[in-house]
Amino acid sequence: MLTIRNYVDGELVEPIGGAYLDNVDPATGRVYSRVPDSGADDIDRAVDAARRRFDAWSHTPVAERARVMLEIANLLEADVDRFAEAESVDNGKPVKLARSLDIPRAVENMRFFATAMVHFHGESHATDGMAINYTLRQPRGVAGAISPWNLPLYLLTWKIAPALATGNTVVAKPSEVTPMTAYLFCELCQRAALPPGVLNIVHGSGPRAGAPLVVHPHVPTITFTGGTATGAEIARTAAPMFKKISLELGGKNPNIVFADADLDRAIAGSLRGAFANQGQICLCGSRLFVERSVHDEFVERFVAGARALKVGDPQDANSDQGAVVSKSHLEKIRYYVDLAGQEGGTIRCGGRSPEVVNDRCKDGFFIEPTVITGLGVDCRVNREEIFGPVVSIIPFDDERQVIDFANGTDYGLSASLWTRDISRAHRVAARIDAGTVWVNCWLLRDLRVPFGGTKSSGVGREGGEEALRFFTEPKNVCIHIPGDDIDDRG
Ligand code: NAD
Repeated sequence: MLTIRNYVDGELVEPIGGAYLDNVDPATGRVYSRVPDSGADDIDRAVDAARRRFDAWSHTPVAERARVMLEIANLLEADVDRFAEAESVDNGKPVKLARSLDIPRAVENMRFFATAMVHFHGESHATDGMAINYTLRQPRGVAGAISPWNLPLYLLTWKIAPALATGNTVVAKPSEVTPMTAYLFCELCQRAALPPGVLNIVHGSGPRAGAPLVVHPHVPTITFTGGTATGAEIARTAAPMFKKISLELGGKNPNIVFADADLDRAIAGSLRGAFANQGQICLCGSRLFVERSVHDEFVERFVAGARALKVGDPQDANSDQGAVVSKSHLEKIRYYVDLAGQEGGTIRCGGRSPEVVNDRCKDGFFIEPTVITGLGVDCRVNREEIFGPVVSIIPFDDERQVIDFANGTDYGLSASLWTRDISRAHRVAARIDAGTVWVNCWLLRDLRVPFGGTKSSGVGREGGEEALRFFTEPKNVCIHIPGDDIDDRG
């Protein structure tokens, strides 16, 4: 059985305490590897390595930092099949999704930030002929990066790439539920000759490895993606220490279909938005609002589309849906499906674990795409994040009402709307509380744009220059220009 190791100071090492956690393949329910159960001493060792290397890395020419990062991207791209297979086994997602989305996006993350940094700029302000102010944007030191299990390598690289490009060194703590591709990634860093200590990856649980990273006095920057409750705990720890934090948290995203929409496109896009990655994407549209005049037709066609999705062995190239990530997560999803019944909803399809699949997967964690109707907007199923292949469809009567519905949760991550009326698209987009609004599309990503949430979906923005700014500290330098007739100003 494969034993995953930590990556500290350029070496793959055992956790100091010698303890390991089981790593389960969700498609089979079987333990298939061991992941370090690291603790505070492992974090200390990694932070020490990152601190020692900070001066050299932050003074390494940008072009050289970019060169190493591009080399890692090239190695990853050349190895896409192996990484996609590993991601699929570790997470339960269909291998074709890992092959088309997760790993290519991880490559893109590395490339995008390696090259973005080459074009990054500071600001300068000429002050009435008497001074020039210019702003240095300097790396902040050791960045702590904590990432979740749903898009393991995609979200890990989304954090470490801008941190490294800007000259920070990094200690990353991937999800203990899906550690495998982070581990394989370390081997690529070694092959690309990334200097030791620039990137360190420590595996382990949130409480034992994540919390010591957050509280570490020599880690002034924390970038976190995960659940809202964990984000709140991190904020409680980090705020009195005056750390800079970025929190990308949960969502309960509205997906709004107006009667004038191109229904074919709206249905196809909404199916993808509801069920991609078994519904385990923070941006999934789990509340589907459909204008009343097309509601019944929409529901019928949407349910048919959900039924047509093939739940199967993630390794099978024909599977549209794989396993959800763990037994406990499957139980959570089932709990909400049961709750939907108690709250008066009708399960239009799904809700059960399918007969699946094949002998290999008979003990895996599968659940059919599930469509619920008949629930009120304020019930728990429509307010709480389920994070599985479960969507609730709700009719609405007009624009004003659906904006209220859409904004009626604690979350504010993303929204989609489907309409042919361009004026309405602008109007509604401006009024929705969310960090991203997609019009006639879903998950169409441009890495240059700001990405993040409002309300309980998080604090701060990632993406493009927002990320480069986050990982740097602006310092203003004011140069007085001596002149004969100008007083100093306070
Ligand atoms: P989680 O909060 O349980 O865990 C995320 C990471 O935090 C893991 O690495 C975990 O080990 C670590 N962690 C847990 N407790 C910690 C603590 N006390 N201190 C420090 N680290 C700790 O989340 P998850 O279940 O892995 O991921 C699912 C959640 O992530 C969902 O809520 C989803 O919406 C959210 N998510 C958000 C985005 C986004 O961009 N907004 C993207 C993906 C996932």
